[in-house]
Amino acid sequence: MSTEVTLIYGDGIGREVVGATKRIIDATGVKIDWDVCEAGAEVFKRGIASGVPEETLESIKRTRLLLKGPLETPVGYGEKSANVTLRKLFETYANVRPVREFPGIDTPYRGRNIDIMIVRENVEDLYAGIEHMQTPGVAQTLKLITRKGCEKICTFAFELALAEGRKTVHCATKANIMKFSEGMMKRAFEDVAKKYPGIEAKHIIVDNCAHQMVRTPEEFDVIVTTNMNGDILSDLGSGLVGGLGFAPGANLGTGIAMFEAVHGSAPLFAGKNVINPIAVLLSGVMMLRHIREFEAAHTIEQAVLATLEDGVYTQDVRKDGGAVSTTDFTDAIIERFGRTSSAWPKRDYKPIKMPKLSDERAYVKTKTRKTVGLDVFLDTTQEVSALGEALEGFIAGMPLSLKMIDSRGVKIFPSVGGLLPDMVDHCRARFLMKGDGEMDLELTLKLLKVIGENYSWMHTERLNVFDGEDGFTKAQGED
Ligand code: NAP
Repeated sequence: MSTEVTLIYGDGIGREVVGATKRIIDATGVKIDWDVCEAGAEVFKRGIASGVPEETLESIKRTRLLLKGPLETPVGYGEKSANVTLRKLFETYANVRPVREFPGIDTPYRGRNIDIMIVRENVEDLYAGIEHMQTPGVAQTLKLITRKGCEKICTFAFELALAEGRKTVHCATKANIMKFSEGMMKRAFEDVAKKYPGIEAKHIIVDNCAHQMVRTPEEFDVIVTTNMNGDILSDLGSGLVGGLGFAPGANLGTGIAMFEAVHGSAPLFAGKNVINPIAVLLSGVMMLRHIREFEAAHTIEQAVLATLEDGVYTQDVRKDGGAVSTTDFTDAIIERFGRTSSAWPKRDYKPIKMPKLSDERAYVKTKTRKTVGLDVFLDTTQEVSALGEALEGFIAGMPLSLKMIDSRGVKIFPSVGGLLPDMVDHCRARFLMKGDGEMDLELTLKLLKVIGENYSWMHTERLNVFDGEDGFTKAQGED
């Protein structure tokens, strides 16, 4: 029986590194039926805005397995990332990035036995890419984090730890600052951890995590984290063990798996036959384990280690002219099939049990919810006390009070000790109901109408209380 796998060579160095990987996997004798598909730069040029044509989507829908090379994304303008499109369309919510010390690779960490699995939430957070220019000079990106997404990724991290016989899971968040979004990850982690008493669970603030990864990386086992944190920590991790040429990855969802290196298309090296294929190759090894081809995975992994132990390197490692080409490096790995290395003790890999969570859309239920006010974001350069007085004038006769005005999260009205931050043409006015009443639609529209007749407002946010808990944070200086 052969397994059908969708294969995308990708852009830049993709053809070389994915080509090498395919050749090595095929050389093990494992039966894979590759369905070669397109995505990325050439597809964008044909006017397909997602960068992923319908035939490719159909193939992945059928195979549920993808091995891919890097896809180029225009930076700072233009089309969205085709990579992110693929991850999101197929809800591959878990991005797994192993960081492991390689024999024969000289780094400041040699001999420390770094062996970390970074589990990055892959579909939420700032990567939703929901952005707006609120004024010509003020940009906003929404950071959306869900309780369900957090529980899924945390459960996945503990299941991965069980499958690989790992002992500790750290959860890295910025919950000290973003108490709702990053805090939700921390709280979900602490709840999920209770179901895995055999695994040590520790929360760590993400900046300290970066610091500790540089100081004592050998102390980490599994790290689970939100999307943006994980993006940065995993590149940091690859730097500890030799660079992006050594950083494989997998994007996993329910019944779907996509394997790709952490690195991008490295356009400067494209077509030069010099690039290191290990990152994509070890992503292929993760794929083989996923389809339970454990023997072939082990053969390739050990041959890679033996090749490095023999001092055969590509130019990212060996810069003195003694490096071999990508194709010669590929041959060297195949020649070493059957060799073993003591560097990476054999692990007893088991399939990862993917979390099964309720399909209910209202994943978190509340007994009560009440709207107690409205935040209105304004595009104005008016002097603050004049603005405050004008807004207070508009709501005279309404059951509302102007709680405060802030600039980028710092309260400016009523003034705190006469201090003002560097002001821009953007502020938020917070209106709260007087007493116990609820802010209904009629009052909301009345308020927005009177403000809109005098100022430009570009965004509003309802202030909700769920089961008696405020669903909004206070500004700096707000009591
Ligand atoms: P990059 O392609 O990862 O390259 C950065 C640098 O890392 C390279 O210049 C290279 O050399 C080193 N490097 C990367 N892969 C290597 C390998 N296999 N072997 C040895 N060295 C390697 O990052 P970028 O330049 O920021 O991004 C280029 C394009 O790729 C962008 O369009 C970006 O959007 C896209 N991208 C795609 C993915 C993906 O498809 N998953 C991921 C990231 C970026 P030096 O260290 O020698 O300079």
